[in-house]
Amino acid sequence: MSKQISSGRRRLLQGVLALIPIGAFAQSPGKRVEESEPQAQGLGYKRDASKADKAKFKNFRPGETCAGCRFYKGAAGETWGPCEIFGNRLVNANGWCSAWMKKT
Ligand code: SF4
Repeated sequence: MSKQISSGRRRLLQGVLALIPIGAFAQSPGKRVEESEPQAQGLGYKRDASKADKAKFKNFRPGETCAGCRFYKGAAGETWGPCEIFGNRLVNANGWCSAWMKKT
């Protein structure tokens, strides 16, 4: 059996790839959460916890960061990691939002 892709199959594959909307990749789990997004704004997410709106989000406590949150699934030492609250998209290990809960 030949390992080369026939020109017909190649054309079919190119056609299928052309039909996949760019937006399908934009919401992939690997994409970083932007502070400007509605969900991020609603939860007061900041990439830098020191920039959290302490007047609006009174549950903020100094020292709380995404790295210490139970919803953060990033590896220790990594700058960015998946957050369950944001559909496993990436948040900064030094970030914070009002859904913060201590990692147990
Ligand atoms: Fe960070 Fe936790 Fe908020 Fe996710 S839920 S953004 S890990 S503080």
